Amino acid sequence: MELIFLGTGTSQGVPVIAQAPGAAADMTNPRNWRTRSSVHVVMDGLHVQVDAAQELRIQCIREDIRALDLFILTHGHADHILGMDDLRRFCDLLGGEALPVYGSEEGLGRVRSIFPYAVRDKPLASGYPAFSLREMPALLELPQGTIAMTLLPHGAVQTMGLVFTERSSGARFAYYTDCSEVTPEAEALARGADVVVLDALRHRSHPTHMNTEAALAAAARIGAKRSYFTHLTCEIDHEKDSLNLPENVYYAWDGLRLNLA
Ligand SMILES: [Zn+2]
Ligand SMILES: [Zn+2]
Repeated sequence: MELIFLGTGTSQGVPVIAQAPGAAADMTNPRNWRTRSSVHVVMDGLHVQVDAAQELRIQCIREDIRALDLFILTHGHADHILGMDDLRRFCDLLGGEALPVYGSEEGLGRVRSIFPYAVRDKPLASGYPAFSLREMPALLELPQGTIAMTLLPHGAVQTMGLVFTERSSGARFAYYTDCSEVTPEAEALARGADVVVLDALRHRSHPTHMNTEAALAAAARIGAKRSYFTHLTCEIDHEKDSLNLPENVYYAWDGLRLNLA
């Protein structure tokens, strides 16, 4: 299984527009330049895209993403959904088929209201999007492996936490972005995974996201071989703050690739 971090930034990206001087993140370090968060997962040749940031097109070109078999929307917030129109290119690459789009009732409702023209069985013509909307089950079984889903609290909405297990290798990866806590159910689902990715917005607390302290506690409870933090603000400086992380816990960055065997 391969995991590609397309983006690791919070909802406004880093730096923000007209960023005030004095932000903690040293912008001369490319690892502190963060597009909005999403990951691309290759599970035994199956290409799964989780979320579509506003920068989806730029991210896919940068990482040379050439195929997409299914798309999963964790929740309907703008930083996760608004790049979805650019998924049209992958409908072309599927040979004019609709792209399977999995989400929660909340997420799929947002897709219907923002992209009504794309909810259809076939693209209207080459270059047009077509999304085949499917409610995400608790366990999505695929020939290449399984994707388990558990709902995580995120303010007024819930985010789908995802755990991928590749059939051939047994590699396991959990993606818990945009959550104020990792529930006991989510913790159990991810326990002992090869890699867990956690929302770790900033050092100060936040009502709908985990901060550094909460993410460190969740990482310790889950006990994955490696834990990576994502959805980061300009309060996090990659080099300086990495010095304060325990062994096997890391800040992710845009373009980071992990091979899980
Ligand atoms: Zn977000
Ligand atoms: Zn969100």
